[in-house]
Amino acid sequence: MTVDKIEQPKKALSHIFYSKILFVFSLIVLILAIFSSRISFPRLSLIATHLTGSANTITATSRSAITTTSTPKMASSQYAKELEVAQLAVQRAARLTKRVFHEKAKGTVSKDDKSPVTIGDFGAQALIISALKANFPSDEIVAEEEAAQLREDTPLRDQIWELVKSTKLDDEAAEQLLGGAIKDADAMLEIIDQGNSKGGAKGRIWTIDPIDGTKGFLRGGQYAVCLGLMVDGDVKVGVLGCPNLPVDDAAPLAADIGTNATDEGRGVIFSAVQGQGATSRPLGTAGLAEGKSIAMKPITEMSNASFCESVEAGHSDQGVAGQIAQKLGITKPSVRMDSQAKYGSIARGAGDIYLRLPTSKSYQEKIWDHAAGDLIVREAGGQVTDVSGNRLDFSVGRTLAENKGVIAAPAAVHDQVIKVVQEVLGQQ
Ligand code: AMP
Ligand code: MG
Repeated sequence: MTVDKIEQPKKALSHIFYSKILFVFSLIVLILAIFSSRISFPRLSLIATHLTGSANTITATSRSAITTTSTPKMASSQYAKELEVAQLAVQRAARLTKRVFHEKAKGTVSKDDKSPVTIGDFGAQALIISALKANFPSDEIVAEEEAAQLREDTPLRDQIWELVKSTKLDDEAAEQLLGGAIKDADAMLEIIDQGNSKGGAKGRIWTIDPIDGTKGFLRGGQYAVCLGLMVDGDVKVGVLGCPNLPVDDAAPLAADIGTNATDEGRGVIFSAVQGQGATSRPLGTAGLAEGKSIAMKPITEMSNASFCESVEAGHSDQGVAGQIAQKLGITKPSVRMDSQAKYGSIARGAGDIYLRLPTSKSYQEKIWDHAAGDLIVREAGGQVTDVSGNRLDFSVGRTLAENKGVIAAPAAVHDQVIKVVQEVLGQQ
């Protein structure tokens, strides 16, 4: 027997052996593919599918696993630091505003446009900007207030400085993350003025409304500390601190929601990151409390829904809202509350539809009044547009110059609401 003849059967045997190993290996990979698609390891199932060479055999289940689970997983770390800093900054600023809220004299002055501003507005803006600059020094900021008035009025400046220097979170690590204390009163004024960006469509720009709903704040009602991050004109992170809303997401929106709020069982932070859903958590005084995912309440019967609108008749046309409600078959009275607490309330399903109907042709909505709320509602399953059905455009400067009014509703009924809004406005 030649060596060749001995080698032939050996080769045949090893072929059988290797093909068996290959078969077992493919079987394991196949099992892995099926298993991983069930327990949502999209990447693993993709690798397995590639290895078995059967891209065409991806099942419907594994397809949906790939699309529904990979997005949040991949995105979960995106904007994580921005979200943490933003929520802690809002929590600290809200602590300051609450101190002012409980004072009889709130240090109110009138702005050039005759709207009120308090020591709480200036103090909260200083604390938020200082936290943002400590973490993201090259980001731009569009904030509502400016320090010009305080440079002329030293007693007012000193009153604000007393508040700012004595407001801290009861958590050393959180305070450190926010960059600690501001150096002195002059540094505080400079910080307040760093919110003077023109806004626009390029780069990272934060929007701040230190006390949204100042009139509600003065009345003892709802107000919100609002912070949003836009990247290239698109809102990526939104945070609303609402010290006077119930902590409980399921608490119904009572008609007196905006009056005589006490701290008992109240205070909530709403937040959202684009593509990652919306959350609520109790507003605390130290680090961040545990958060819960929130979602809008589906509207199955319009007759069971109600509108959320401004308390101030000058901010939203309540007469037109009444006509729209009638046409939609809504019989319940509107819930009126100040500030972006309206966005937070509908996002967690406590309210249904937020209407803001223009009262004048010339008024342009401010981006800091809507950026955070717009994202939080959309991430909770809602749609937010102007009265014509166009998405709010935050990329054109400090105002929403391209939009008129705001309609926020669960995505499934938004078109229906817009249709009626246009019918009623068309008849005006
Ligand atoms: P709200 O508490 O929802 O009524 O909104 C408060 C915000 O309304 C304030 O922060 C102002 O920037 C804004 N505002 C002031 N004047 C008007 C107006 N004429 N129309 C709409 N919003 C306004
Ligand atoms: Mg405001």
